[in-house]
Amino acid sequence: MLDVSGLTTRYGAISALRRVSLSVGANEVVGLIGPNGAGKTTLLNTVAGLLRPAEGEVSLDGRPVTGYSPDRMLRAGLALVPEHRRLFAQMTVVENLRIGGVTSAADERSERLDEVVELFPVLKDKWATAAGYLSGGEAQQLAIARALMSSPRVVLMDEPSLGLAPVLVDFVFDLIGRLRTEGRTMLVVEQNATRLLEVADRAYVLRTGEIAAEGPASDLLAREDLFDTFVGVSGNSDPSGSEQT
Ligand code: ATP
Repeated sequence: MLDVSGLTTRYGAISALRRVSLSVGANEVVGLIGPNGAGKTTLLNTVAGLLRPAEGEVSLDGRPVTGYSPDRMLRAGLALVPEHRRLFAQMTVVENLRIGGVTSAADERSERLDEVVELFPVLKDKWATAAGYLSGGEAQQLAIARALMSSPRVVLMDEPSLGLAPVLVDFVFDLIGRLRTEGRTMLVVEQNATRLLEVADRAYVLRTGEIAAEGPASDLLAREDLFDTFVGVSGNSDPSGSEQT
């Protein structure tokens, strides 16, 4: 469904990604793990259209979408839950959700609102609250719900458990498991590699901008050598421990 081929992304003279290729099949949850600075966020941001690749191709259902703007990418069926959530802090929960559904017709948008509220009941209680006043856990739920508002065929999630209290980290991984059971197609980046591998079908290990390993999540979980160089593999690695929106 999502195919990335030979992707290179540079920040000036620095190549943060070098000829990275990966694929995510329909109804698959694929993990992307690796140490800090490996290029995980760069990869998601390039695929989602926030960064332009220097080389390589991205395709969705066999259609080339390389270099699409984030808006066009959303219309093509790919939504990003960005690192640090990037909510509109001054806007209410429902306004943030409506923005997520901007690519859908009005009747479809109201159907989606009902669906995401069922998935995240806490959002109903905070309907008219400005996103900036939400707790870290609520804000993360809103960020995921906002992405689901466009009925994406593929969801990219960047560090969804970052900065959350342990009970909410459990909630996030349970949620990924639930979305997988629903047959969603997702590419998920996490520092918390072991937890991610427990809920993913397959995974890629990125190291210094290149794919260092790939395979079924259960096989990678057994490969202790892969984790030796990771920081924050089993814990939450947000150095600030913050819960910012
Ligand atoms: P982390 O887990 O710390 O978020 P990551 O695997 O997501 O790391 P990236 O944030 O994609 O890695 O960074 C990959 C490399 O690109 C790093 O060396 C980083 O310093 C560099 N980099 C990231 N953003 C920029 C930028 N805006 N300008 C220059 N270099 C950048």
